[in-house]
Amino acid sequence: MNYKNNDIEAFYSPNLYGNMKLASEKEADSIKILVADDHELMRESVQELLSLYDMSCILACDGQEALDIMAEQDIDILLLDLIMPNVDGFQVMKEVNRNYPDIDIIVTSGEATFKNATLAMRHGVKDFLHKPYIPSELIKVLNNLIEKRELKHQLDAMSNYIQTSEKHYRFFVNNSPDIIYMLDQQGQFVFVNERASELLGYTQKEFTGHHYSEFIHKEDLEKAKYAFNTLSGNPDTAQKVEFRMLPKYPGADALCFESRSIIINLDSSELPGSEGSFYGIYGVARDVTEQKRSEEMIYFQLYHDALTELPNRILFKDRINFAISQANRNNRKLAVMFLDMDRFKIVNDSLGHLAGDKLLQEIARRLKQCTRDSDTLARIGGDEFNLMLADISSREDVLSLVEKISTALKQPFLIDGNEVYVTFSIGTAIYPEDGSTSETLIKHADMAMSNIKGKSKNGHEFFADHMKDLFQHNLSIENGIRKGLQENQFEVYFQPQYNVKTETISGVEALIRWNHPEKGLVSPSDFIPLAEETGLINTIGEWMIEASCKILHDWIAINPAFGNLKLAVNISASQIETDNFCLFIIETLEKYKISAKQLELEITENVLVQDMELVVSKLNRLTRHGIQIAVDDFGIGYSSLSYLQTLPLSNLKIDRSFIATIQSRGDKNSIVSAIVAMAKELGLHIVAEGVETQVQMDYIKKIGCPTVQGFWYGHPMPVEELKLIALEQFHTAQTA
Ligand code: C2E
Ligand code: CA
Ligand code: CA
Repeated sequence: MNYKNNDIEAFYSPNLYGNMKLASEKEADSIKILVADDHELMRESVQELLSLYDMSCILACDGQEALDIMAEQDIDILLLDLIMPNVDGFQVMKEVNRNYPDIDIIVTSGEATFKNATLAMRHGVKDFLHKPYIPSELIKVLNNLIEKRELKHQLDAMSNYIQTSEKHYRFFVNNSPDIIYMLDQQGQFVFVNERASELLGYTQKEFTGHHYSEFIHKEDLEKAKYAFNTLSGNPDTAQKVEFRMLPKYPGADALCFESRSIIINLDSSELPGSEGSFYGIYGVARDVTEQKRSEEMIYFQLYHDALTELPNRILFKDRINFAISQANRNNRKLAVMFLDMDRFKIVNDSLGHLAGDKLLQEIARRLKQCTRDSDTLARIGGDEFNLMLADISSREDVLSLVEKISTALKQPFLIDGNEVYVTFSIGTAIYPEDGSTSETLIKHADMAMSNIKGKSKNGHEFFADHMKDLFQHNLSIENGIRKGLQENQFEVYFQPQYNVKTETISGVEALIRWNHPEKGLVSPSDFIPLAEETGLINTIGEWMIEASCKILHDWIAINPAFGNLKLAVNISASQIETDNFCLFIIETLEKYKISAKQLELEITENVLVQDMELVVSKLNRLTRHGIQIAVDDFGIGYSSLSYLQTLPLSNLKIDRSFIATIQSRGDKNSIVSAIVAMAKELGLHIVAEGVETQVQMDYIKKIGCPTVQGFWYGHPMPVEELKLIALEQFHTAQTA
């Protein structure tokens, strides 16, 4: 190409466009420009021009050199002359298109034919400058190009960034521990993450296009629908809802989710590919199954008894309060029953706590079977159960349940190979007449229970107003006993036992009396049952043994004839269970130098509900020592007589109720004669208790009962009184 040098100089003189600036100086500097022109002056003037803008360029004198340079260096822009020797501009363009697509080409040519221009454009050339061009034009074209390249770079970076961010987002969404989902306006899944599939077992395909309700537990559907509808009508608020979802895995339990969702409202421009505006719900659902389970467990533990899994006191009260409101509405009654097991302590102490626990579980099971669904059975303490009959029409309902319970408990419980018989003392308070709150109803049922326990155990009683006084009374007795023991208010009375043949005192039964500072002499029947309930009987019992032995010891010191007097002492069932029972008795006998043969322990059939093995072994130990064992109140118990052979017995005391039936001459009591006959058969001694009249005395003699104890011969009396009677008798015997 031929240019006049001055033309070129003139055009490219920096002074002319010294004020122009390149698009971005910073970028311009790092842009690599290759100038391919066979015209040396042209090359150099371009170089000079660009250097004014802090741009360097590499020069190639023909097409081949240009290609060589491009093969070695990263070129951004190529200023390409078309007509060059050897390899011309068109060939270079082809090569560039094939191998260096990132290089932008600006053609500078003197041959600015239409054909050349179109051909160049077809090769993707960015601009076409007709030589000679004015330098500002080149700068402008370069400027544009650099700007475009810059823009493209930015776009590429942006798109890169978006792609990476999209990748991250996808990673987070799919690896989120929570389910992430989108629902359309109709409630159909548009999107769920992989976590949903992992947790619930459906593929993502099985979700999309399906309505959320297909996956939700039917009991929670209303809740979920409500949340969905509220959200739809209220796009500004986020909705939180808890529901269970059904996993696809067969037999799997529903999982519990806590879902937070919001409305999204996008128009098409915001969501590429969607037609019209998009309106739907975006939500995150967290699997809270485990959390729910532990919450439920905590709730359960809070309101249930761990051993029997029955409701505890708190839940029981709650149920009563609810039942009270129902009863008010329907004008109905309800019953609160207090069940206290008789002698549980004995079972627990003798068989051990584990066995005690098993027994309680078994009892709970049997009791539960007696109740209806609407009733609540609760365990509120060791051996105490409460039962509420939510809706009763009369007291008869309670009585028939009591009957049912007592039948259910008739069969012994088999605990670790031991047969355990269980009875309950039950008290009932009725709403509304016996109390208006759960507290009073339970308290009054408790009072009614204590009332029956104090009397007979194993029975049922309805609450009555006077029991409140009794309750107070019992409380004051209990405290009184403790104080009485400390302050020596107890006293031993002796009641004589007579030999029927010789009509002489053969022994005494020690009976306790309480010299109450205010109430005067209190009979044992007024405090022994309560002492048994509270365990105070063990202390009282020891005191009695010690006190009676001491008396006998003192007497023997005065008159050795007292060494032949039998001393009978009453022993409560629970006393036998105490750890040092045998040792205490043996040591006391030694301490007071009393022959073991003199001592007789009176036990009742109550001991039979205990750990028989333990009872038998303890009693055996005592009898081996020489101590005698008598069965007190014999004949009124309801147990089988087999124990007569198991226990080491020496004496039966016929209960005074049998003797009481003999009123007039000619009266008979076949039970009494049968007992006497049986005792003889078994080689047991026998005492008739409660002989009050001559008629009874004659009857006793007639049937051959060897010993009597009763008012006919003597009431229980202060020991000094008895001592005098006995001394006189010894004296008579001596003088006779
Ligand atoms: P128990 O062991 O059956 O004692 C005999 C009771 O019958 C005594 O009543 C006595 O006064 C009464 N009694 C004796 N003869 C007659 C009679 O001819 N007619 C009538 N109607 N009653 C007669 P007490 O002393 O009031 O004792 C009542 C119960 O208290 C005793 O019955 C016994 O179970 C208990 N008890 C008394 N002292 C003690 C004791 O130290 N320890 C224990 N564990 N219980 C005792
Ligand atoms: Ca007795
Ligand atoms: Ca008796």
